[in-house]
Amino acid sequence: MRLEGRVALITGGASGIGLATVRKFVREGAKVMIADINLEQAEAAASEISREGYEGVVAAVRADVSVYAEVEAAVARAVEVFGKLDVIFNNAGIAGGRPLLEHDPAKDYEPIVNIDQNGVYYGMLAAGRQFRDQGTGGVIISTSSIYGEQAAELSFTYSAAKAAVISFTRSAAYELAEYGIRAVAITPGRVATPIINQFSDELKATFAAEQLRNKLTDPEEIANVVAFLASDEANAINGTVVSVDDGYSVFKQRLD
Ligand code: NAD
Repeated sequence: MRLEGRVALITGGASGIGLATVRKFVREGAKVMIADINLEQAEAAASEISREGYEGVVAAVRADVSVYAEVEAAVARAVEVFGKLDVIFNNAGIAGGRPLLEHDPAKDYEPIVNIDQNGVYYGMLAAGRQFRDQGTGGVIISTSSIYGEQAAELSFTYSAAKAAVISFTRSAAYELAEYGIRAVAITPGRVATPIINQFSDELKATFAAEQLRNKLTDPEEIANVVAFLASDEANAINGTVVSVDDGYSVFKQRLD
């Protein structure tokens, strides 16, 4: 019960990594507000988890993280329902990419930057203000990606947005330390969630072969790390990137 008594807001908590993290957090004793653009799926997840013996500790709110007012309202809702906020997991995101020279900025740049980059900034801002006003400190964990640290095929915009997440994390740690706030970014590799599951078996096998266990990472394995990072056991980790890439970066850096 490493998160006993903590309250967390998890964006993108209706699916994939976010949903696995909601489940892990409640098992560790936290109360969790799921914030997702897909309210139906978020509410279904909250009801299912409640029925599994966690009644009263998980709730859902609709929020589009690309709109600051909605993120601010999600933070306010978490405080209204559970009394305070201790952790935000800025995790909502979309993927996608086409060759740069075929880009239509309105389709290939703006949505990804609005959600994957601005959404994290808005989460840091809204939760950071709440943590400061409470005077309790807090933890900000944000989902970057291996693509935030390197160029990859068809990821021009996604890589930039995910690199911004790492930069925001460094700056947030630096600026917010005086309020007892920590910030950490994670860089998953290829995780078995709907973002990856939509691809062909052949592409999924290629992704798996680029990780050292020759498998896609389970979302629960990312959730375990997020729970650790949110806990006091990780108090010495601040402003940095924690790789949860199943050895992908080692694979890419090896000398053949
Ligand atoms: P997912 O599609 O299973 O979950 C994403 C969730 O975000 C969904 O519930 C979706 O409704 C929600 N969402 C999308 N747009 C939103 C918006 N504007 N506002 C609020 N919620 C919104 O995907 P996932 O793999 O669990 O992705 C979670 C995060 O992990 C994303 O930031 C993604 O970029 C990152 N990531 C995933 C992988 C991977 O291999 N799956 C690897 C690296 C990073």
